[in-house]
Amino acid sequence: AGRFAGKSVLVTGAGSGIGRATARLFASEGAKVLAVDVTDGVEETAAGHDGIFAMRGDAGSEADVTAMIAAAIEKQGGIDVIFANAGISGGLPGILDQSVEDWQALLQVNLIGPFLAIKHGAKAMLDAGKPGAIVCTASVAGLRAGAGGPAYSASKAGVINLVQTAAQQLSGSGIRVNAVCPGLIETGMTQPFYDLARAKGKGDQLGMLNPLKRGGEPIEIATAVAFLASDEASYVNGHALVVDAGLSSS
Ligand code: NAD
Repeated sequence: AGRFAGKSVLVTGAGSGIGRATARLFASEGAKVLAVDVTDGVEETAAGHDGIFAMRGDAGSEADVTAMIAAAIEKQGGIDVIFANAGISGGLPGILDQSVEDWQALLQVNLIGPFLAIKHGAKAMLDAGKPGAIVCTASVAGLRAGAGGPAYSASKAGVINLVQTAAQQLSGSGIRVNAVCPGLIETGMTQPFYDLARAKGKGDQLGMLNPLKRGGEPIEIATAVAFLASDEASYVNGHALVVDAGLSSS
């Protein structure tokens, strides 16, 4: 039972934070989930959760992405949903301090990663004649300056444009491509900021920048991703869904 009963799902960056919460939500609603990460956190994501299978892989590597999709098809009988979520933050450096290598390493995961997931995921869906849904993780950092370092923000702005272009180019296929733009969520990525703020006795102020006056939980992004991936969102395409408690609009 559940919205994803019998569906085959691939989640990247599933060893922590938003990816872990989303993999578990999909599985709890009946999906078979291939959870992929570069770290052993992915085995922890799967442990004790029926329907989640752990796999190591690099979301920024074309060989690894094709291997993930092949594994999902082989182990789970197809590929219906892809959540291209893996991302790295690169800290908060100034534009004068970043190297070309910093940019390339970050773009490889944050922007080329979603491109590879869309390219090979859509190909597999077209081959099978079964159009599915692809969701990519962007960020409020991709909507306006100031929420991340220069390469990070540019990568996330790129993801928002990429899902629009992909939706357009896959026109007529039935495949839907969307993005989610999280605000500040407490995960491995933001832990250093939370730790620093708490050490200064200002931990409760981190979420105060938004109208709901609190930080978000990974499950609050997972529920939005599940909506975009579900048949309930059958007419939502090329869209970037902002889930940030009003941060970017206030
Ligand atoms: P996280 O660090 O807790 O999780 C990210 C996971 O991605 C980690 O387990 C990491 O090992 C994995 N990963 C990194 N590079 C990878 C690669 N090349 N291949 C496979 N896996 C890889 O952070 P999170 O907050 O859950 O991040 C998930 C996504 O959400 C990222 O794309 C991030 O940019 C985005 N995001 C996070 C926030 C936030 O406030 N936490 C806000 C906006 C967007």
